[in-house]
Amino acid sequence: MGIIQELPEQLANRIAAGEVVERPASVVKELVENAIDAGATKVEVDLEEAGIRLIKVRDNGHGFYEEDAPRAFLRHATSKIRDEHDLFRIRTLGFRGEALASIASVSHVTLKSRRTEEDGFEMTLQGGVVTAQTPAAANVGTEIAVSQLFYNTPARLKYLKTSATELASITDTLNRIALSHPEVRLTAFHEDKELLRTSGNGDIKQVMLAIYGRQVAAQIVTASSKTNDYSLSAHLVRPEVTRSNKQYVTLILNGRSIKNFALTQSVLEGYHTLLPIGRYPIAVLEVNMDPMLIDVNVHPTKREVRLSKEKELCQLIRETVQLTLREQRLIPSVKPKERPAQRTEQERLDFTVERIPVTDEAPTWNYPLPREPVTSPSRWSPTPLVNEAPEPIDSIVESEAVETKGERLPPLDVIGQLHASYIVCGAEDGMYVIDQHAAQERIKYELFYEQLGNPDKEYQLLLLPLTLEFTQEETLAIEEVAPLLKEAGLELEPFGGNTFLVREIPTWYPQHDLEGTVRDLIEMAIRDRSVNLAKYREDASILMACKRSIKANHPLNHEMMQQLIHDLNQTTSPYTCPHGRPILVKWSTYELEKLFKRVM
Ligand code: ADP
Ligand code: MG
Repeated sequence: MGIIQELPEQLANRIAAGEVVERPASVVKELVENAIDAGATKVEVDLEEAGIRLIKVRDNGHGFYEEDAPRAFLRHATSKIRDEHDLFRIRTLGFRGEALASIASVSHVTLKSRRTEEDGFEMTLQGGVVTAQTPAAANVGTEIAVSQLFYNTPARLKYLKTSATELASITDTLNRIALSHPEVRLTAFHEDKELLRTSGNGDIKQVMLAIYGRQVAAQIVTASSKTNDYSLSAHLVRPEVTRSNKQYVTLILNGRSIKNFALTQSVLEGYHTLLPIGRYPIAVLEVNMDPMLIDVNVHPTKREVRLSKEKELCQLIRETVQLTLREQRLIPSVKPKERPAQRTEQERLDFTVERIPVTDEAPTWNYPLPREPVTSPSRWSPTPLVNEAPEPIDSIVESEAVETKGERLPPLDVIGQLHASYIVCGAEDGMYVIDQHAAQERIKYELFYEQLGNPDKEYQLLLLPLTLEFTQEETLAIEEVAPLLKEAGLELEPFGGNTFLVREIPTWYPQHDLEGTVRDLIEMAIRDRSVNLAKYREDASILMACKRSIKANHPLNHEMMQQLIHDLNQTTSPYTCPHGRPILVKWSTYELEKLFKRVM
């Protein structure tokens, strides 16, 4: 006598629900995506008790045939796919045919629908079983109400977070859908509070405005680029607005919001050195590609995707972000205090939202400068920085420019130094104050970065080899990173025990405190261990630049200040130091006049 039985359909659905319907936000996602699949241009969402008591989604899509309605709630019932072949070409949002069955199995559902040419009807289900189906007055389209979610799966209910967290998750879901479908007019209410309202006019920047508010929207820069396989459209919020987590980087692949670690990482790398450590950008990246290159069917809720040629796309993203941001003039300007801006409902609700001090405290950061070419670079008479160590600051000017370098600052006349730390300058359009330490960090960072990656290094034999001793642990690590160090120009010769010799060094190494520099480079490599040369170059450059730059509290004479500004103007990013802090701050003539009440 056998003991194996097929699971009853209801039980199978409930088990599947565990995968598809994790929390209220997953229900919202499936229902809204279904509505969009049904051709809706307008979708309205109503929620009660963070979706536990009620999730209602109303759309103006094509509606259900009455006879199809019960079938739609069977597992693997779908109108979107007929055979395996379709799996690869499908462009619509859902294709597993199990969302409605799963949702219905753990809730009470009421479906009201009408197609243009048919009469309306209403159908109710309890725990996935149809309990009534009757004719009913209905608008063209569909309204699905899901109530008492997880009423029959108490364990699931117990695992839900606080209603604030669940609501934040729903909001995040809706935001992502809105960003992937700017052509759909989407509204959402929680009880009587508006969570989201988009216009449906197709403009993604308007959706960003609806979600993130006016101040963020004013800082969006858009760029597009493509390769043979991918086309990219990037909407980047300038780096002076930041968030404390990565959640604000949205990836949209062929019209769907997705998750992909490597792609998100590429966006961050593109912003890198423009953001303070531990801060993240707000950005929306739309990627279009041949669907054959995607494997979407990895995660049951289809957020995580795998791509072939992922590296190529990562590079496209990283470079586009980097170039776009560098092209912008990134000088924060100080504005007189302004009326606090209105916060959107989302900002009030979403506890993870953090704001930079834009409203409550002056100064306000924004980048209002026009992008006119700078005209008179020859005003400078560069003289060497006499008091500084003889580092070849000028070589940065001569070396091959990879990216557009130089002359993006307006002509600046040095007025003087403040607190031995800040250089105060006059310009045609106002007053600039430069943080001398940050400026030199940027200059050296770019210099070191270039030198570290330069394959034909010139070496200089040391008269006395450096003898460096390490701990046992460090010695083991050094053996591991020796090839990386060699690529970066540093060859360590084992000298027995935990001792190594350095016989020659690249000529560009700072001569004073040579041992310090070499140790820094080694320590860095040990810390980054698994990392490649590109990342190592960047981290090592930041470290060396920071250590070897003039600190605050260092008097500079007029020529030294001019030289510093000249060198700064030759860098690719003269506006922020490698840690993302601003290098210069501006008071426009207008703002000064306003402060002195000469204008209103
Ligand atoms: P899938 O979306 O993967 O096909 P679902 O269980 O989400 O599976 O939906 C089952 C079917 O119900 C869909 O294929 C579609 O034909 C129909 N459907 C679901 N929601 C709507 C809607 N809002 N308007 C019209 N048809 C819908
Ligand atoms: Mg679906």
